[in-house]
This record gives sequence, C-alpha cells and structure tokens, in this order.
Amino acid sequence: MHLSEILTHLGEEREQYFQAVAPPVIQTSNFVFPTLQAFREAFTDELSHHVYTRGNNPTVAMLRAKLAALEGAEDCLVFSSGVAAVAAAVIANVNQGDHVVCVQAPYSWTKILLTTFLPRFGVSHTFVDGRDMTEIERAIQPNTKVLYLESPNSLTFDIQDLDACAQLARSHKLVTIIDNSYASPLFQQPISHGIDLVVHSGTKYLNGHSDVVVGVVCGSKAMIKRIFDLEYMCLGGILSPHDASLVIRGLRTLELRMQRSDASAMQIATHLEKHPKIERVLHPLLPSFPQYELARKQMKGAGGLFSVYLKADNIEKVEAFIGRLRHFLMAVSWGGHESLALPMAGFYSIPGRPDSSQPWNLVRFYIGLEDPQWLIEDLEQALEVL
Ligand SMILES: *Cc1c(COP(=O)(O)O)cnc(C)c1O
Repeated sequence: MHLSEILTHLGEEREQYFQAVAPPVIQTSNFVFPTLQAFREAFTDELSHHVYTRGNNPTVAMLRAKLAALEGAEDCLVFSSGVAAVAAAVIANVNQGDHVVCVQAPYSWTKILLTTFLPRFGVSHTFVDGRDMTEIERAIQPNTKVLYLESPNSLTFDIQDLDACAQLARSHKLVTIIDNSYASPLFQQPISHGIDLVVHSGTKYLNGHSDVVVGVVCGSKAMIKRIFDLEYMCLGGILSPHDASLVIRGLRTLELRMQRSDASAMQIATHLEKHPKIERVLHPLLPSFPQYELARKQMKGAGGLFSVYLKADNIEKVEAFIGRLRHFLMAVSWGGHESLALPMAGFYSIPGRPDSSQPWNLVRFYIGLEDPQWLIEDLEQALEVL
C-alpha cells in the first residue's frame, strides 16, 4: 500500500461520522448492545468487537491499522508508553526458566526489565555485542526463547544484521523482537527481513510533537492476538482515545518530518565532522561509520540523531559548551519538532544510570525541523569555548 494512502485514508470510515475529514475522538469507556445475542457474540472476540475501551476503541483501532500498514505487519497494538510495549512483547514470549539474548546497551528501561524485573520471575538473560553474529550464536542456550534487538541503538547506533539475525533465530526457534524507534518504519522495515515483532516508542517520530507518550507492537495476527489476550488486557497499559487521535494527527506529517530531520542531521553531522573541535562524529550513514555498509543495506535513511565526541580537556569545558547553546534545548527523548542536546556529562556522576558508562565528552544531538543553517551557526559559536 502506498505511504500516502496509509497516512491519509487507511482506516478512516468517514461515512460513519458525517464525512468529517478529521476523525472523531470516540471518548467512551463503554459500548452498549441492542440484543443479548449481539452481547454474547461480542464477548467471543473482544479484539474485533466494541465492548470496552481497555480492549478495543474505534479511534485507537484507526491508529493501529495505520501503524500495522506502515510496518508491513498483519496487526498492531498500541500502549501507554514505549516501555509498556517493550515489556508486553518480551513477557508474552517467556515463561519461568526461560532465557533472553539481548543486544548490549539497549534502551535503559529495557535493560532494567531484563536485569531487575524478569529475574524475579525466573527469566535470565545474556547481553551480547550485536555487531558480532558469532557472539549472538554463542549466547543461545537450550532454554533461550527470545532474541531482542535494537538496531540502531539511539546513542552509539550499533547495528545488527537483520537478515542474519532472523535466520539464526529461526534455526533455533527463537522469537525475534526489535526496537525500531530509531529508524521509524519509513527508514527500516524489520518484518521484511524476517523479524517477528517490531516495537516502537511512538513518543519519538511517530507522534513527533513531544506531547504524547505512546508505545507500539507490530507482528502477525496470531502473535498480536496472544499479546492482546493476556499482556494487553491483563496489564492494561492502553493508550487513551484522545492520545490516539493526537498520534493520528502526528502521522499526517511523518514523511515530511522524517525527510527534513534526516537531511538536516546529515548536513550538520557532515559539517561537524570537519570541525577542529570535534574528535569524532557517530552517524550510521556517514561513510566514516564502522558499520556504514550494513546501515546502507538495511536502512533507507537515518533520521535526526547523531552523536559527537568533543575535543574537550575537561568536563567543565563540556558544561561551558552546553551552556552556550541557544537553539538546542537540553533534554532526553527526541523525534519532535525541536532540536535537542543530550550531554553524557549530565549522567557522569550518577551511579546506577546505565548510560553513565559513556565518556563525558559524548554529546548526542537530535535535529528537529528548524533551519539547519541556523542550528550550525549556534553550534559554531558554542564550540568556540572549547
Ligand atoms: C524512548 C525510548 C523507549 C521508551 O519509550 P517511552 O515511550 O519513553 O516509554 C524505548 N526504546 C527507545 C529506543 C527509546 O528511545
């Protein structure tokens, strides 16, 4: 299906709401039944009937249809956060005594799910360098059930070979899950590489306006139904109809926003790579990136994120640089309209923060929708303090 068809029309049954262009927010918890027979029938399948909004809601269903189509998946569920989506996808595929192989340095709360939460229920894990297929294969045990990927990750952009991972997992009967938040479905479609479940923090590009926290799981009808029947209905981390309508609105401009962020980030990263105060730039689609060829093979673009190592003698210099930025806001997250700077120096002295192991001269930038030249001028004047 054409991207424009998905973003403009798919799932929008306008004849049901007065031919309105903007879909209504069906802000209801409950749905009524005209007959006992209809009531009984609805309870046989809450995923496709309207019974109660924890299970199914028309505004939320419209969003699900669009997201599934974007990923080339049969079905999709949306959650109240990316973390809720990650947790549901993993928990649905493990039992007591099982083992998960996961790439090293995944999103920080994914790491905590594996290191702190799941061990309470007898589920163990091994972290591997996902750049090395031999290391992944060596970590697989007889009780391994899940191979968890994040490609690229959102700080150093390490990449896994999706075709090779899917093939390896299939030969060991593992379920593959990938966090695809970095690339978005526009730039990478893991299901076409044979990955089973695709999760997103839709908080980032999919919503794209820094005003909703939302999670997504895409996969086959059967796998999504299994997650729906237990993790979705039982843990109840659903998205509200109002938030779903905001994400539908965000999706209208997904293609434009991704193209703009991608082009601007590439322009700025290329510029910084030549700057004497920059030690190194990490961006998966710069030829200097160690996994550049693999990135080009499986990604159509890179979006707005890149990281730099500053040539700074001490942490105070990093602080001074950050303090001088005027057009970049200092914040976590990314994927909105606004450009951001995330200095690792901010986590440096906080014990237990998973990312505190990164060097203090590493700064991650997210390039939003502003004029890239205006952002470059800001970076230039701030780099003068180094
Ligand atoms: C932000 C993020 C998450 C968590 O998503 P929330 O919507 O904040 O719960 C998961 N994975 C990645 C890669 C992220 O950037």
